[in-house]
Parts: sequence; C-alpha cells; structure tokens
Amino acid sequence: MINMNSLMWFRQDLRVADNPALVAACEFAKQHQGNVRALYIVTPQQWAQHDVAPIQIDFIERHVNLLAQSLAALGIALDVLHLHWFSDTHAALSDYLQQHNISAVFAGSEPEINERRRDALLIEQGVPLRLLEQDCVLAAGDVSNLSGDMYKVFTPFAKKWKSITCQRAILPVAAPAPVAPALAQPEAIVFECNKRSSEQWAAGEGAAKRILDQFLASQVADYQNERDFPALEGTSRLSPFLALGVISSRQCVAAVLTRYPEALVDDTSPAKTWLNELIWREFYRHLLVAFPRLSMAQNFNELGDGIVWRNNLEEFQAWCEGRTGYPIVDAAMRQLNQTGWMHNRLRMVVASFLTKHLLVDWRWGERYFRQQLIDGDLAANNGGWQWSAGTGCDAQPYFRVFNPMTQSSKFDPDASFIKRYIPEIASWSIKDIHEPKSVNMHDLFAQPDNQGYPKPIVEHKMARLRAIEVLSALKRG
Ligand code: FAD
Repeated sequence: MINMNSLMWFRQDLRVADNPALVAACEFAKQHQGNVRALYIVTPQQWAQHDVAPIQIDFIERHVNLLAQSLAALGIALDVLHLHWFSDTHAALSDYLQQHNISAVFAGSEPEINERRRDALLIEQGVPLRLLEQDCVLAAGDVSNLSGDMYKVFTPFAKKWKSITCQRAILPVAAPAPVAPALAQPEAIVFECNKRSSEQWAAGEGAAKRILDQFLASQVADYQNERDFPALEGTSRLSPFLALGVISSRQCVAAVLTRYPEALVDDTSPAKTWLNELIWREFYRHLLVAFPRLSMAQNFNELGDGIVWRNNLEEFQAWCEGRTGYPIVDAAMRQLNQTGWMHNRLRMVVASFLTKHLLVDWRWGERYFRQQLIDGDLAANNGGWQWSAGTGCDAQPYFRVFNPMTQSSKFDPDASFIKRYIPEIASWSIKDIHEPKSVNMHDLFAQPDNQGYPKPIVEHKMARLRAIEVLSALKRG
C-alpha cells in the first residue's frame, strides 16, 4: 500500500472537539498509513481590506496557538502560512501539498461568498479539498419550505429547524485519538498584523466549554427575563467563541438539550429563548448561502436601493465615538470601543439610531461594527444591521423607530450601565439621563455642557418623522 498523508485546514473551526473534518483527516491518514498535518492560513491584507477588528485578530492568534498545543498532544503539527490575499491561496497551498506529499485536504465549509468561491476554485484547479458541513447544526439548504426554497422569515424557519432537529440525534463528535506520539511544545505563532489585546477574554476550547456549562447551570433559566438588560450578566457571551468556531453551535445545542430535552417542543421550557438565539445564528448563515448578494453588502430588499441616506460624516463620527448626546446610545458605543463587544439590546438600539434617527446607510454601521467587534461575523452582523434598517429579510418595519428614551428607561432603569461608561454624567438625575434635555434645533451640536457631555445631535420627534418619510422607499406596492 502507498502511504498517503492528509491535511486538516482550519478556518472558522478553531477546535479539536466536534470537528468532523479533523476526524476525517485522521481517519484518512490511518487508512492509508500516512501522516496528518494541520494548517492555518493568515491573510493580513485580506483582513485589513475586510475590516476584521484588531481585537478579533488577536483572539484568533491566541486560539491558533492553543490549537497548536492541543494538536501537538495528538501528534499533529500545525503549520501557519502567511499570505497577503485569498487569491494567493492556490499557489501557496499547492506548494505546501507537494512539499508534504499530501493527498487529501479536509476542511469545514464556510457560508460567505468569497470563501465559497475560493474553495470551488481550488477544487476546480485540482486541489483534493473535501469540505464537510460543520458550520451549523443543520447544513445550509436542509431547512427549506414546501417549494424547496430557503425561508425568508425567521419563525417558520425556526419551526422547521426544530421539527428536523427533533428527529435527529444531535451528538458532537469527540476529539480524535492521538495519531502519533505527542510532539514537543510548539513555538509561539505570531501574526504580523495590526492587533489589539483581547486579554480581557478567556481563551480556548476549555474556557468556552466552561462558560457554556456555567451559563446552562445557573443562567439559562433567567435568560428570557434578563437578556435585555445590559447592566446584568444575562447572556452567555459565547459569541466571540462561536464566531471563530472555538465551540460549535452543535456543542451548544446538544448541551442545552441534554439539560432541557423538552426545549425543542415545549414553549414553556426555560431554555426555549436561548435555543431560539442559536437558531437565529443558523438562520442568518443559511440566508448567506441562499442569497450570496448578502455577502456583498447589498440590500436584501432591493427597494432599499432607492433610499436617499443622509450620510452626514460629522454625525457618523459622533455616533462612532459615543457623543450623540443620547446616553444609552453613547454608553453602548463606548462599550463597543472599549471592550470589542456590545450587548444585543444595545446593538439594536444603536443600529436603529444610526440608520433611522441619523439616516446613515446601514453599511457604514455594519463596517464600523466589523472594525471593532471581537465576535464580528458577516452573517449575524449583516442580518442584524439589515433587520434594524428595515432593508433585510424578516426586517423590523421601516416605520418602527426605536425611541432611545424609552429603550433607556426600560432596559437600564437605574442607569447603572450608562453611568459605567459615561461617568461624567453620573451625578445627573435618572430622569435627565434617560431623557436628555430637549434642545432647540440651533442647539444641536452645541458646545458640550460643563461636564463635557454633548447635547443631543438630533431631535427625536423630528428625526422619527423624517426617517419614516425617507424609509417609506421600502414600502411595497
Ligand atoms: P446570547 O444571547 O447568549 O446568544 C447565544 C448565541 O446565539 C450568541 O453567542 C450568537 O452566536 C447567537 N445569537 C444571539 N443573538 C443572535 C442574533 N440576533 N443573530 C445571530 N446570532 C445570534 N452577533 C455576532 O456573533 N456577530 C456579529 O457581528 C453581530 N453583529 C450584530 C449586529 C447587530 C446590529 C445586531 C442587532 C446583532 C448582531 N449580532 C452579532 C447578534 C447578537 O447581538 C450577538 O450574537 C449577541 O449579542 C452575542 O452575545 P451572547 O454571546 O451573550 O449571546
């Protein structure tokens, strides 16, 4: 028998547990009495062009190092190739395969159009690439309506997703057994690109698993009631790990169903709401595959092409920096800028404020989020922004404009979240914090008050009516 080596190419699945592609690579090598290698490709220029946040790059680097250690214990060496662009992949990968005499490459499939095109091209060019569907619990295309098409509305998608999942055993795949004696401790891998420390986040598969277990043991039952309050630790904070595939959605779903087996069918299950959020993740990823134009920042609803955005640079800058004069918006943006993460309720509030109150194109906000988020993820980010702007599928209607004052008093009633990020207004009354003093139009963008906090940059009632008028371009018929 000829010995044949295999390669596991890690992309958005930086884990050894529940990684069927890794298991397949190990099995291939075993069957053909060959060796297994592993690869990660770093593309700094591509990342810069696509605005991947420096904090997320740092988080990836930490995980690639941890992955190298876990793989070394399994007897698998992880190599890192530094390329400039995706388009350099074919030449570099071909050289690498030749150099290591590799006969088969295994990887998890990815939903984004550039990645799908790259993989299709590699296969066309003769790279022996075998893609496994491991990005979601159910593969894109498996959840379709009676005509075989992808759903455009979440609720029927979720219903179908649950009915299929009910009939399947959701079992994460164990990490492979060692294929060779453990290797020496790998050398530190350093990415030569712009990074920002992600140290405030624990890293690693073990950390992700611990967060999941702890969340399910003590928080998931309160999730429904607490998830909208940014001052509370009411959500799992697993998104940075899910975005890199340090933990899989299947691991999360399997763990929820182990504790709450009724969650798929019983609407009163304490875990129902959290499970739904994981299904939102799948919904947006399936949408990306079904509608590739979403990856290209196009409006899902083509009527959105007719919106005349104001795109005022000065106002956009104020929004980015957390100086709109609306404390709930500003505290949220400062949370994003300082920590690389933002609470989901606040993502909706700031996205609505930017696209509706300020009438700035959702693509500007989506891009800014990508530049800052540790959990930046094209599918969820695009889905969230288009939902907020009203241009997406299953979107918030254009005439529903979040009132920042109501959102503030409802979801941060004692203003403790706001005060944490805007200490300069900590002495204000709670009422003043929730309802920035009404201003005359000529006061907008006036000098900050004596605590250095700006006056509101836009007046709510006027902005709401203006948004409804401009966004009525989205009205059908
Ligand atoms: P939990 O509430 O504990 O939910 C568990 C997991 O479910 C999350 O980690 C996430 O993977 C998934 N999830 C939860 N809510 C959503 C949702 N609405 N859409 C898709 N998946 C969801 N999420 C990202 O991971 N990356 C992004 O770039 C991103 N951008 C967003 C932009 C906007 C404008 C909006 C409104 C939402 C965005 N979201 C994004 C979704 C959501 O805000 C985050 O997933 C969530 O806040 C992460 O916190 P958590 O892990 O504590 O979530």
